[in-house]
Order: sequence, then structure tokens, then C-alpha cells
Amino acid sequence: MGIISALGEASGEGGYATLSFSELQEATGIEDNGHFNYHLKKLVEEFVEDREDGYALTLAGIRAYQAIVAQQQLPSTEVAPFDLHSADECHCGGVIEAWYENGRFHAECNECDESIQYYPVSPRSFDVADPDTLVTAAARRITRDESSMVRGVCPYCTGNVTWSFEMPEGYWAENGMQQEDIVSHVACDDCAWFMYGTIGGKARFNTIISSFLATRGHDPWREPPWGEPFEYTERVLSDDPWRLELTYELEGDELTVTVDGSLNVIDHELTEGAVDRED
Ligand SMILES: [Zn+2]
Ligand SMILES: [Zn+2]
Repeated sequence: MGIISALGEASGEGGYATLSFSELQEATGIEDNGHFNYHLKKLVEEFVEDREDGYALTLAGIRAYQAIVAQQQLPSTEVAPFDLHSADECHCGGVIEAWYENGRFHAECNECDESIQYYPVSPRSFDVADPDTLVTAAARRITRDESSMVRGVCPYCTGNVTWSFEMPEGYWAENGMQQEDIVSHVACDDCAWFMYGTIGGKARFNTIISSFLATRGHDPWREPPWGEPFEYTERVLSDDPWRLELTYELEGDELTVTVDGSLNVIDHELTEGAVDRED
């Protein structure tokens, strides 16, 4: 870890560093040549590339360095519960509280304990003394990961993802979450990173849906991802193959989209003034 970190820390503008044997040894602080060489040899090929001009991280080495950096400060960083002002009050009338613990941002109702959000956020991405910066960092992170998943790319390892709409029994009960009518589950085929959520909420990152929402004051890229301040309904048209119909309603306009099993929009219809006419 020291050798990988030293190569990572020596990197900066313009790319990852290449260090000579002695530069790398000095950076790791291991004085004994044989001891240092023994550990370096173990890393060469898989994590460290032995080049003519020195040693550099391989792609696996870069991934390992990222994991080391992400892990630093995790155990020591905590933010005590505070009111999450940007979220609506819970349907039970309770107040949504947020806090940071064990590397994760949490948001939960203080009355009914319903979990609103639970997601890893780097302790380096916010100021522990300022809870607003934690809220912003969590919102950015979740938005990035959800939108990447909707585009079919794992935000962690860049692998392909697979969507499913079936619920493992007891998941929501275990996590204190309330089950929606249909819940989406998306998992990386390679690293198994997964996310749960409502279909209508996840699908908002689709261009057609996001532009409908954004031009009516609800930009999904800027609003906190746990709010869902827009109305929508969902309907299963077919489960083999999956065809789901989502209807979003804002400012009297209605957007109806049909999505497939990967949340790709395969059909859509915009009806402006739809709600007024019905009234
Ligand atoms: Zn509640
Ligand atoms: Zn992955």
C-alpha cells in the first residue's frame, strides 16, 4: 500500500508519475534495499509497471490507489444528525434528519425511521464543520452514480450494468424503507455495485424526461436526488420483455414515456395543458 500510495501521491497534473527505484524507495520511507525490493517485486506486473525509465502504476494500480484514497479518513469522520431542510417533511409528519457515519451519508425520518437515503460519500468531499457541504456532496455523488447507471455504465469500475424490477423479500423491511409500487434494482455485471430506487426517479436522467422536468423548474441534475418533487405514475405494460409506462405531470403538462428493461425510453408523448383540459 505504501508503494502504491507513493506512486499515486507523486502523480499530478498531466498524468501518473514514473519514479526511479531510488526515488520510489525514498518516497515510501523503507530504508532497507532488500526489504523494499522484496515488496516492490510482489507488485510488479499486476499493480506496478517496471519501465525503462522507472516504475509507474498499471491500471489495476491506479484502481488500488483510488481505493486507498477513498478509504483514508473514513473511520474518523462523523457528522451528528441535523435537520435536512432541503427535503420535504416525511409523509408521517416527522422531520427528515441526515448524518454521516462509517463513510455513508444517511437521511431518515426521526419519527417513523423510514430511510430516505443511504449512500457512500468520500469524507474528503465535504467540510465536517458545515453540514450543508455534506448535503451538497451527497447530492452530487448520488446524482452522478444514478445517472451513470441509467446510461448503463458502472460509476465505479465502468462495467456494464443490468436492471431488474424484482424485489428480494424483506429488503425494505430490513432497511426500514417503505416499498413503492415498483422498485428498480441495478447492479454492475463486474464489481456487483448496486443501487435501488423508484423507476420514475431513476429514469429522470433520461434526456427526454430530464428536459421535460428541467424546463419546468425541476432540473434533475441540480435538485437533491432524494426529493422527487415532481408527480408521476407508473404502470407495467409487459414484464416479458419489460415495458413500463411512466407519466410525469408538471405545470399542467403531461409527459408519458414507455421504457424498456434498461430504462431506455422507447416511446414518448408530450401533452401540453393536459391537466387543465381534464379539469
Ligand atoms: Zn416518517
Ligand atoms: Zn462496477
